[in-house]
Amino acid sequence: MALDNLRDLYQQVILERYKKPRNRGKADPIDRYQKGHNPSCGDTIELTVKLSELGDRIDDVKFEGEGCAIAMASADLMADALRGKTTDEALEMVQRFQSMMRGEAEFPQDLRKLNVMQGVAQFPVRIKCANLSWHTLKAALESSQAQPVAAVSNE
Ligand code: ZN
Repeated sequence: MALDNLRDLYQQVILERYKKPRNRGKADPIDRYQKGHNPSCGDTIELTVKLSELGDRIDDVKFEGEGCAIAMASADLMADALRGKTTDEALEMVQRFQSMMRGEAEFPQDLRKLNVMQGVAQFPVRIKCANLSWHTLKAALESSQAQPVAAVSNE
């Protein structure tokens, strides 16, 4: 895709997701609960995850929080992409997203919606905003807590 088209699409998707998020709220029931904070911008996020009966698959992800359009849009797109994925796949997606923010990777066809966030890589100061929800997800999946614990910071 031409860079100009990608940039337009990026701005359009971010604004749309920011104004009309599809995944705001709390998962029910809550199997994992993690707060995240990005001090450099002031973004905060509360991520709740519903797992499958065996605990190895993500049934639902919801988020709440306050922050800039990039942080909120990234969380909303992430929640869409995670539904139905195994926890192992989700952790791989965290790594891939972080690599994408360094310009080193992108997502395959079935997850191509996430590639729109590549636009953020052009604005280094905003990369932490885009990474916040993924960073928080990783902490959520690596803990065994269903209660909110201390917020993770991505500083
Ligand atoms: Zn931000």
